[in-house]
Amino acid sequence: MFDAIVIGTGQAGPALAARLAGAGRKVAIIERAKFGGTCVNDGCTPTKTLVASAYAAHLARRAGEYGVAIPGAVGVDMKRVKARKDAVVATSTGNVEKWMREAKGVTVFRGHARFTGRNTVKVGEEELSAPQIFINVGGRPLVPKMPGLETVPYLTNVSIMDVDFVPEHLLVVGGSYIGLEFGQMYRRFGSRVTVLEMGPRLIAREDEDVSQALKEILEAEGIEVRLGAECLSAAKDGSGIAIGLDCKDGAPKARGSHLLLAVGRVPNTGDLGLDAAGIAADKRGYIEVDEALRTSNPGVWALGDCNGKGAFTHTSYNDYEIVADNLLSNAGRKWTDRIPAYALYTDPPLGRIGMSEAEIRQQGLKALVGKRPMSRVSRAVEKGETRGFLKIHVEEGSQRILGAALLGTSGDEAVHSLIDALYSRIPHPEFRRRVRIHPNVSELLPTVLEDLAPLGGQGWNSV
Ligand SMILES: Cc1cc2nc3c(=O)[nH]c(=O)nc-3n(C[C@H](O)[C@H](O)[C@H](O)COP(=O)(O)OP(=O)(O)OC[C@H]3O[C@@H](n4cnc5c(N)ncnc54)[C@H](O)[C@@H]3O)c2cc1C
Repeated sequence: MFDAIVIGTGQAGPALAARLAGAGRKVAIIERAKFGGTCVNDGCTPTKTLVASAYAAHLARRAGEYGVAIPGAVGVDMKRVKARKDAVVATSTGNVEKWMREAKGVTVFRGHARFTGRNTVKVGEEELSAPQIFINVGGRPLVPKMPGLETVPYLTNVSIMDVDFVPEHLLVVGGSYIGLEFGQMYRRFGSRVTVLEMGPRLIAREDEDVSQALKEILEAEGIEVRLGAECLSAAKDGSGIAIGLDCKDGAPKARGSHLLLAVGRVPNTGDLGLDAAGIAADKRGYIEVDEALRTSNPGVWALGDCNGKGAFTHTSYNDYEIVADNLLSNAGRKWTDRIPAYALYTDPPLGRIGMSEAEIRQQGLKALVGKRPMSRVSRAVEKGETRGFLKIHVEEGSQRILGAALLGTSGDEAVHSLIDALYSRIPHPEFRRRVRIHPNVSELLPTVLEDLAPLGGQGWNSV
């Protein structure tokens, strides 16, 4: 009998187990695969490590622009690229395992966990019980229903981690966050890359100008982008793969040597025995939770990607903070207090906070927009990285900042000053008064707000 059981060692589970144990509770934590889950093994950590190698290759090819001579062609040794990535991942996953095994009051169980009752879980031959159970089982890549897919080999964001060669021509199905990071990375490693996106534009959740700018950036690097790629089918094509597509323009087939599926993720909840514990999930398998992340079984909480309230490491970790603070300090915290913020790690990256244009319109808000191309940001000019733009939306009457899209060098870092501004609800004139460091991308954010125009008008102020 334990005080608490944690299922899964993703971004919420280990921290929660350690905190509960630190408060004197007897905790069991169960992991069926690799410690640290998606972020550490197949997500953030390896992809950003690979993105760094791809950036180094890209910059080396551009060395001449900076007056730096690199004789001969720039080559990429994928075995070394992979070894570097593997080393970073091994340290991270090893640290999580060590942390859990050494934490006083935490007992580690290895194997698949499944509910057998409202407060009991089976792992291997053992049945564990606890009055409080925390689910942090994450998700896995979605393999879409595509005619012919069973006849061809394909990669997912998990299996591509074993690739130690440069594919001749990588076909990427899915033009959203994961697909674009891999697409640009492999182009820079030396592959030909074709991105096939079903929708009319890339990263469809973003504003149209963001989608368009990113498409141009990727195309300028030689990536082929096929939009409106509907009715996909797969077939063998000699030693490669052909994807049939029903695009409005272009050839009816895209041919390549390798195929990466990047069309989304599904929660790992189908094999958890949720029914036995009286835990409700929605049609897509996401566990239903209230504002405090409690499930329909009041002794069970769901944290991280499996509750559908976020799909990021920082949202999963924030779930842990909410649950722990509520249980140990009666803090009354809610996930609904979270402001959506995330980054896309293409080069240049996209830093995002708050509402998109579509969301602003949906809510019927009267908004103003400020926008400035990166070619007018001195730090970007000095770095020779002037692609993209900075864009901030504000509400006309209240002067509150509604959201921002920073597509440009350091956009993933610069967005944090806006994250702080949104959480502290400061009106934009006050945000502008704060003196920032020169030369920095962040120092231009007040300038973006100097020249605001009505959203939807002709107010493209600074191009
Ligand atoms: C390619 C890629 C890139 C990404 N990049 C970023 C990024 O840059 N920034 C960012 O914020 N997010 C990123 N993400 C998302 C991020 O990885 C996840 O949101 C994050 O890992 C949170 O996951 P989690 O805590 O819900 O669970 P996970 O990390 O998925 O962990 C769940 C764990 O539970 C275990 N498990 C599952 N079922 C059971 C069971 N029945 N019994 C025992 N154990 C079980 C699994 O083995 C796994 O270890 C990326 C994702 C992908 C795929």
